[in-house]
Amino acid sequence: MVYGSIEAGGTKFVCAVGEENLSIVKRVSFPTTTPEETMKQVIDFFSTYQADLVSIGVGSFGPIDIHKASPTYGYITSTPKLAWQNFDFVGTLKRTFDRPIAWTTDVNTACYGEYVSGHGKGLSSVVYYTVGTGIGGGAIQNGQFIEGFSHPEMGHMLIKRHPEDSFSGTCPFHQDCLEGMAAGPAIEKRLGRKGQELPAGDRFWEIEASYIAQCAFNTTLMLSPETIIFGGGVMKQEHLKKKVQEEFIKLINGYVDIPPIEEYIVTPKLADDAGTIGGLALAKDVVDTALEN
Ligand code: ADP
Ligand code: ZN
Repeated sequence: MVYGSIEAGGTKFVCAVGEENLSIVKRVSFPTTTPEETMKQVIDFFSTYQADLVSIGVGSFGPIDIHKASPTYGYITSTPKLAWQNFDFVGTLKRTFDRPIAWTTDVNTACYGEYVSGHGKGLSSVVYYTVGTGIGGGAIQNGQFIEGFSHPEMGHMLIKRHPEDSFSGTCPFHQDCLEGMAAGPAIEKRLGRKGQELPAGDRFWEIEASYIAQCAFNTTLMLSPETIIFGGGVMKQEHLKKKVQEEFIKLINGYVDIPPIEEYIVTPKLADDAGTIGGLALAKDVVDTALEN
């Protein structure tokens, strides 16, 4: 018996199978190209486990349709990645693998991974952000994903511009929202080089930290989570977490009693495994839920 996990990212897909205890048995990764090409690789990978595969947990880039009653449930909807617009992701999987499929956003999956076996273990309220090619956020409150008419899009929150920053922003929808100012491509466009090429001592990191700290500030006041986890490529700058913590404390200015900062603003305990482990955990849960119904 194995469970499947798919992390469908805008840049790459990570597919894995794992056991009941969420240990990863086999994992593969390939670039996100067209649905035809990429989904063929997904299906080829899981076909090897056809006989043993119980269920699959999918975390996808989006926006996606998560409403069970909707005719387009399981679709990627208005994504800027044109080839994937209105793509029936869950339906495509179901046609080959007729078994339970859990379907949520990529950030929710990573959030869930940290919730079941990372920094969120034992907590009931956890928020996870990725700061990478885009900025996305997922939130669990009382053990449930927060969702309304759709899933949250917290990475596009509005933030105050840093006084030293005149960059106009990269978001095609909002220009200088958080993602438009602080995601990896915004760094590259502003400075002419990628974040990973920028020295730790560069003054820009103070500006980047101020944006991420504002994100933590807004999140704290709106959701009052027990922990906020920042993952994604940009957070691989190890000095950044401390800068964000310090800036966040200044912003909060004693207004609310936050948990100890070292436990409150953190990077993922599961590092790059958060999404895969979350996907496996969701695959397990969807079977339990199916049994209950
Ligand atoms: P994705 O968001 O596509 O899943 P990542 O989370 O790795 O992938 O994000 C990629 C972005 O993060 C790129 O814009 C890249 O320049 C930036 N990035 C990756 N590693 C680092 C690093 N060590 N420091 C700063 N930025 C980084
Ligand atoms: Zn935006």
